[in-house]
Amino acid sequence: MRLNRLRLRDFRNYADTELTFDPGVNLLLGDNAQGKTNLLEAIAFLGSGKSFRTQKGAELIRFGAEFGELEGQLTSQDREQSLRWLLFPGSRPRQVFRNGVKKKTVSELSGALRTVLFCPEDLMVLKAGAAARRRLGDGALCQLRPNYEAALAEYGRILERKSRILKDRFEMPALLDLLPEYNDRLCQVGALLISYRARFYDSLGKAAGGYHSHFSGGGEEFRLEYKTVSTVTDPFAPVGELTERLHAHLESHRRAELESAQCLTGPHRDDFEVTLSGLSLKQFGSQGQIRTAAISLKLAQRELMGRESGETPVLLLDDVLSELDPGRQDFVLNQISGGQVFITCCEPGRFSKLGKTVFVKGGRAWEGPEAGQLCKEEFHV
Ligand code: ATP
Ligand code: MG
Repeated sequence: MRLNRLRLRDFRNYADTELTFDPGVNLLLGDNAQGKTNLLEAIAFLGSGKSFRTQKGAELIRFGAEFGELEGQLTSQDREQSLRWLLFPGSRPRQVFRNGVKKKTVSELSGALRTVLFCPEDLMVLKAGAAARRRLGDGALCQLRPNYEAALAEYGRILERKSRILKDRFEMPALLDLLPEYNDRLCQVGALLISYRARFYDSLGKAAGGYHSHFSGGGEEFRLEYKTVSTVTDPFAPVGELTERLHAHLESHRRAELESAQCLTGPHRDDFEVTLSGLSLKQFGSQGQIRTAAISLKLAQRELMGRESGETPVLLLDDVLSELDPGRQDFVLNQISGGQVFITCCEPGRFSKLGKTVFVKGGRAWEGPEAGQLCKEEFHV
């Protein structure tokens, strides 16, 4: 799949910009704070209705504008398609059109444009806390499996209510009568999450291992292990069995939960661990190894999504290449071929031979020879 043309009106710092793109590599070049990430955000939003930077739709509308508009022409599912969004400040609901027809829900876009984003924060995700890894895994799995996304949202709702019961029960002890019902549902939906995650992390680990092996010249054995509730010895077990295992763990933590007034057990605390030739990456990995492994995971995510739908998703690389040494940059640039890619960059030169260059400045963007000329003037190259 690929994005051929994008028009932004009053989106972030873009007043009115129209661009056409290369089916391969598109380099978005410009100084800091000019609108490069905004452009990636627009591309990701176009296909998903979600921003990777904010939950508040109104922030996407250019300051002072009455509404914002995004429109894209794409080639996917073997045909030309168009997507269009209208965003309004305040309570007026946003609108989305696919091929000119207004849609009620984002799910009706059914993967017309899928993207995988890789940003500098992702480079250190393997070193970060479990929450960051869960976000990364959940984000990827939600894109792959809409049913998982629904189950995850349901789990979040039950967990929130249970937390409130545990906190409020000091004032209202009768609330405790509701706890068994919430625990039952938590275990049922939690078991479903574990089942999805076990399969997903297994495939992700295998695919990422392939990339990492190329990265390290075959010298390191990459392994990814999914970590969940300790009573779940086999996360591939049938969901009914997983539910029982979760119940057992809950039971053994019942008192601790009541005393601490916190939900202490369940897959909301899951994690995954990467080891290189048996050594924990989090504990012993060098910066380069951690970054390399993180990139391998993202490329693996793109591969799994591509395998699933038969179309390689669009890869959005925000500012990551400049953080890598030249050898790793070369590896990434070689591995990203075979799909459409958008790369943001502040320094011209190294990547300018690739595909198409778009020059970004002050919420405006230029392409073609004009972009080349402006880059020369701006960066003296
Ligand atoms: P860097 O290289 O530093 O990452 P960038 O080119 O990626 O920079 P962006 O994050 O795309 O920069 O754009 C940032 C600019 O967009 C900021 O100056 C910010 O003030 C402006 N901006 C963000 N939201 C809006 C909005 N709703 N309306 C107008 N301008 C906005
Ligand atoms: Mg940026």
